[in-house]
Amino acid sequence: MSIAANIEKIKQELSQNVKLIAVSKTKPVETLMEAYNIGQKIFGENKVQELVDKYQQMPKDIEWHMIGHLQSNKVKYIIPFVHLIHSVDSENLLLEINKQAAKVNKVQKVLLQIGIASEDTKFGLEKEIANSLIIKYLNKEFENIEIIGLMGMATFTNDLKQIENEFENLKNIFDEIKTNYLNNQSSFNQISMGMSSDYKIAIAKGSTMVRVGSSIFGGR
Ligand SMILES: *Cc1c(COP(=O)(O)O)cnc(C)c1O
Repeated sequence: MSIAANIEKIKQELSQNVKLIAVSKTKPVETLMEAYNIGQKIFGENKVQELVDKYQQMPKDIEWHMIGHLQSNKVKYIIPFVHLIHSVDSENLLLEINKQAAKVNKVQKVLLQIGIASEDTKFGLEKEIANSLIIKYLNKEFENIEIIGLMGMATFTNDLKQIENEFENLKNIFDEIKTNYLNNQSSFNQISMGMSSDYKIAIAKGSTMVRVGSSIFGGR
């Protein structure tokens, strides 16, 4: 199927309030433009250099999302233009994002990445650490950051029940933070979960953003 047909099919499976992040890593700009030309304006990348290159080459009305592990020393390259950073997995990173955002007079939107998978190969905060960062955030330690939700990646497994449990866990952590700390603040409202292989499960468990690559652009 064509990229257009793939996007059309996925969009039909998403409800109105779920955003489709087209994960375009490793794909050339011409391929991204095929998606752009049929109205896809949200793209996700996982490497800083590639994100910067594509930002420079593509139309300026695109929302760029950083979804991959981010090193503190590279934060400064993306802050001027990145819409949302999904992958905040340490306090150091949060501090650096805050610092660089302040320099360009921006309030940077981020998600806290929570480690929900059973493999320890994936990055992510433990729930207790996430809670402690939220408390610091409420104490205004990161004034140039807006935390708008959580992100998580399920274990790479065929066990659908396990994936479902992991997504449910992320939704529960989200609900707890929202009620315990954020007083149901409406700007904390995003759960980024679900990829090509598991986005349908993620939507059923309350995802508001799915990050889909290979089901749109083909294998890598
Ligand atoms: C690559 C990637 C995706 C998309 O994966 P697909 O299986 O191609 O849909 C989603 N999230 C992150 C963090 C990724 O690195």
